[in-house]
Amino acid sequence: SPIVRAVDIRKRYGGVRALDGVSLTVNAGEVFGIIGPNGAGKSTLFDILCGITKPTSGSIEVLGHDVGQMSPHLVARAGVGRTFQRTAVFGEATVYDNLLFGRHMEFRHSVVGRMFASRTWRTEQKQFEDKAEYVLTLSGLQEDRDRVASVLAYGVQRRLAVAVALMSDPKILFLDEPAAGMNGRETADFIALIETIAPGRTVVIVEHDMTVIKALCSRVLVVVDGHPVTIDAPGEVFKHP
Ligand code: ADP
Ligand code: ADP
Repeated sequence: SPIVRAVDIRKRYGGVRALDGVSLTVNAGEVFGIIGPNGAGKSTLFDILCGITKPTSGSIEVLGHDVGQMSPHLVARAGVGRTFQRTAVFGEATVYDNLLFGRHMEFRHSVVGRMFASRTWRTEQKQFEDKAEYVLTLSGLQEDRDRVASVLAYGVQRRLAVAVALMSDPKILFLDEPAAGMNGRETADFIALIETIAPGRTVVIVEHDMTVIKALCSRVLVVVDGHPVTIDAPGEVFKHP
């Protein structure tokens, strides 16, 4: 069954119809793209799919959860990872600390974390550290591990944002304009990273950079003016502009 099933999603901001009846399914293992002009409703759709924004109407199920009714925190715990349009890494912290920080916060804020922090801390710490080593290697950030994030090239910071999301081992990863502001080399590195991490996961990408969409996506949704125009393979979508 599909990993994402959205049916007739509508979202209004006052009189603005940001989304006007968008339905889509994303299958397990798929890299799914969302494209469209500025103001089309892509960010709104992205936020609704990740449970950050609630739709005005329509149903949205991700990994079997009704994310239209869940708090963003619960959505994250259900195995949904995401990056944000702006990098959202901690500039003053090192790459390594950025990786550990999110997991620390998640654990400390959890019921289990609060009750058993002192007892389980060391075990948890070891697990986070092992995971961080794995993610550093996976995302090609080993050489940058002790560098403060703010000194990294923009493209590397974006890669770090993906790495932070990978720390919670998401079953589905939502990427909001991941290649924005990247140069050609950084974009190529980024495509390679997603190709590495995509197997065994499902990925949804909102992106302006068509190189990224063509290289990675099995299907693309084109949104214009809050309406879904087409959902098809990139080759078909770009054949009929
Ligand atoms: P895109 O990501 O494709 O550029 P958005 O989802 O950001 O499109 O916006 C879709 C429409 O909804 C636009 O008309 C935008 O102005 C409007 N919109 C988005 N967010 C809000 C908001 N928080 N309040 C009011 N209008 C919004
Ligand atoms: P429940 O869901 O019943 O509250 P869980 O044992 O499933 O209990 O987890 C509670 C919280 O503890 C979750 O937010 C989960 O992320 C966190 N948690 C549990 N084990 C770990 C772990 N090894 N690493 C990180 N967070 C953990």
